[in-house]
Amino acid sequence: MKEALERAKKIKAILTDVDGILTDGKVNFFVRDDGKIDEFKSFHTQDGIAVLLCHSAQIVCGIITGRRHPTTVERAKNLGFKYMYQGFLTKIGPLNDILEKEQLSPEQVAYIGDDITDIPLLKEVGFAATVPNALECVKQHAHYITQRTGGDGAYREIIDFILNAQGKLAPLLEQVEASAWTAGKKPEMQIVTSQEGIN
Ligand SMILES: [Mg+2]
Repeated sequence: MKEALERAKKIKAILTDVDGILTDGKVNFFVRDDGKIDEFKSFHTQDGIAVLLCHSAQIVCGIITGRRHPTTVERAKNLGFKYMYQGFLTKIGPLNDILEKEQLSPEQVAYIGDDITDIPLLKEVGFAATVPNALECVKQHAHYITQRTGGDGAYREIIDFILNAQGKLAPLLEQVEASAWTAGKKPEMQIVTSQEGIN
């Protein structure tokens, strides 16, 4: 944990997978009479506040997901994620893109993922995190494994850990308790869509 704390101090951007991290990994389908298919997934509101806290702490938030779905785009836009890369099963390209756009080195980036397509990024970044029900081969690349599960506050736990390591969490909480905290300005979201992944 000490190593994770030291690594967390350097983080300026936090990138995450979606399914299994921001959600519990389950995708629910409902086929209508006309054959159209509705898809449902649940996001945790505590994870939503985490993104707002990052805005206050000047930490960039981004998503790199293998799937493409309007629900995720809507949620990401709503919360103020700066980057939304969807449809990428090979995620190293989006990481390099963000590093260049933000002028950051891999040590300054955290990545959270739970499946094999996340491994190249977990190996690359300065702070690699995953959830307790991730695959074992993923867990072995993580510097931090959350207590909470995906879709149930795991993302919030990581954000709190990083903000705390940087000494930013307590001042933010003080502001909140004094009713003096206002969420920072949401960045304009940049969406990049690849046809490589799955709908
Ligand atoms: Mg996943």
